[in-house]
Amino acid sequence: MLARYASDPDRSRGRRHPEPPAPTRTAYQRDRDRIVHSTAFRRLVYKTQVFLNHEGDLFRTRLTHSLEVAQLGRSIARSLGLNEDLVEAIALAHDLGHTPFGHAGQDALDDCMRPWGGFEHNLQSLRVVDALEERYPAFDGLNLSFETREGILKHCSRANAQRLEANEPGGVGRRFLDRTQPGLEAQLCNLADEIAYNAHDIDDGVRSGLLAVEQLDEVPLFARFRDEAVREHASVQGRRLLYEAIRRMLSAQVYDVIDATRAAIAAAGIDDVDAARRAGPLVRFSASMQAESAALKRFLFANLYRHPQVVETTGHAKQVVRELFMAYAEAPGEMGGGFDRRPERPRAIADYIAGMTDRFAAREHERLTGRRLWP
Ligand code: MG
Repeated sequence: MLARYASDPDRSRGRRHPEPPAPTRTAYQRDRDRIVHSTAFRRLVYKTQVFLNHEGDLFRTRLTHSLEVAQLGRSIARSLGLNEDLVEAIALAHDLGHTPFGHAGQDALDDCMRPWGGFEHNLQSLRVVDALEERYPAFDGLNLSFETREGILKHCSRANAQRLEANEPGGVGRRFLDRTQPGLEAQLCNLADEIAYNAHDIDDGVRSGLLAVEQLDEVPLFARFRDEAVREHASVQGRRLLYEAIRRMLSAQVYDVIDATRAAIAAAGIDDVDAARRAGPLVRFSASMQAESAALKRFLFANLYRHPQVVETTGHAKQVVRELFMAYAEAPGEMGGGFDRRPERPRAIADYIAGMTDRFAAREHERLTGRRLWP
């Protein structure tokens, strides 16, 4: 059922530490299973997507976000004949490197690590699966297939790509130096990520009270489907109307990606994975959907991500991360899990903090500073 341009697990570029194949699972199914059983994956349930974990039980967390990305990705992959298992593995792992408190945590940790090469959550996701998970006797990390690792590393600075390339010549850093694309499954996860958060942030934004449903009038992509839902179900309102509009918007985007991508693949005459890597980005929206999706993203930036209430908690989150970093630098023995015995102290502190859930970070901060920033 796989298209010729799909990633074929039997022709994978393999694992860094060779292992015999599993008797009942393909390489990518095995990668997905390793990710689901990892410690970092379980931590996603208590990590912030946009709203801090303690702000409410029904907001997306990194875990439910990752599951939604996997669902959208698989459904598009099936229609395009791409490898669903690989898409699922990449989607479930794509946010493993996120710090507690979302982007605020990442920015603060990046500042703390400035003299030592900075901190980047996407590179950290790769670091989690390559080095930080401790589950196997013979190697560090999860020893995932090349294609899964390639998909996890969705962006990378030139300096970081050169570092990766020095450690693993011709490996996952290479494409950022050559300016080529990853396989189509990886490209798909990227777009599924965006489709997922644009939709669920509308829902969470309204649920939190920070967005009023009426404000969404200025988002054509949403307003169009809300009006359509009202035309078909005159009495629908409130939460059901919101869900119906979001559902229709999601479906329209999924069908749009399928059609536009199929056309792009055909136009470029792609018939194998490496040809797809050499072509420009092929998994895409149509031009009009791209414009509408960008407008929705701009709306969320202006009205939700930069909402004064979000910005205020962001300030606290940054303070927690900064003060934790300073506290562990002064007293490395306060870190658990043997992190104080690791070489390269600043990087070990960054790894330790990045691995924390929101609530563990808040508790540690209170323990080490005696101050409580949240109720
Ligand atoms: Mg994501």
